[in-house]
Amino acid sequence: MTHDDANPLPDALRMTSPAPLVDIGANLTHESFAKDLDAVLERARVAEVATLILTGTDLVHSEQAAALAHRHDGLYATAGLHPHMASHWDAPLGSAMRALHADAKVVAVGECGLDFNRNFSTPTEQERAFEAQLGLAVESGLPLFLHERDAGPRMRDILRHWRDDIGNAVVHCFTADRETLHGYLDLDLHIGLTGWLCDERRGHHLRELVGDIPATRLMVETDCPYLLPRNLPAKLKGRRHEPALLPWIVREIAHWRGESEASLAASTTATARRFFQLDEEH
Ligand SMILES: [Zn+2]
Repeated sequence: MTHDDANPLPDALRMTSPAPLVDIGANLTHESFAKDLDAVLERARVAEVATLILTGTDLVHSEQAAALAHRHDGLYATAGLHPHMASHWDAPLGSAMRALHADAKVVAVGECGLDFNRNFSTPTEQERAFEAQLGLAVESGLPLFLHERDAGPRMRDILRHWRDDIGNAVVHCFTADRETLHGYLDLDLHIGLTGWLCDERRGHHLRELVGDIPATRLMVETDCPYLLPRNLPAKLKGRRHEPALLPWIVREIAHWRGESEASLAASTTATARRFFQLDEEH
């Protein structure tokens, strides 16, 4: 009883996926998860979201994500510098990232990329940090976890230049238009979808596009604690997004792709396991 009372999810939000899911973008090192991380992971497990890729956004959070992944089966990490922080890129940071990429629990380089929406770092700084991390991906042989906002054409130019040298790459939290999507698919990139298409203010255009993504290139993510789906069937106190809510996003995407939740769950999980080269038993 006490345990149940501590669960902040109302009954309508306690969902279980018909097949195991991989959340490829969970910011579990965010301070909002500091107090109840074990309970968050347990709710995710009950929802059939037992495999999580923790997003590293700078050195401290990448190190924390890797450490967390070592403490829990089914958790993995990325290591990279987010474009917002690109002004901090320098050689010592590059060396520290290179060391992290050799860690067995670190399964991708990133998140890295371009964000011309807010330009917290200048475009020049962003491109410098991004190209350095593309180099680290070539060195390590790891796939790339890419962030792009309002920078599609420039992102495509840079990736076209690097395409033959880098391996697999996923544009996480894709939110752009059809032309940008097909540009990425033409470059053999993977696409990560969040609950953005649940947002009636800015995401409904994605509903028409998600069917264009081949199942072998599509993965799903919460990007929690950010991007709580706006059309959840119940209100959530605190409005913190968490991995246990991923089944709702998969249900929405499946609906707009015209396929079953079970088939989308199975294909996105198979794609994620192949993409991040995850061990079978986890
Ligand atoms: Zn991002």
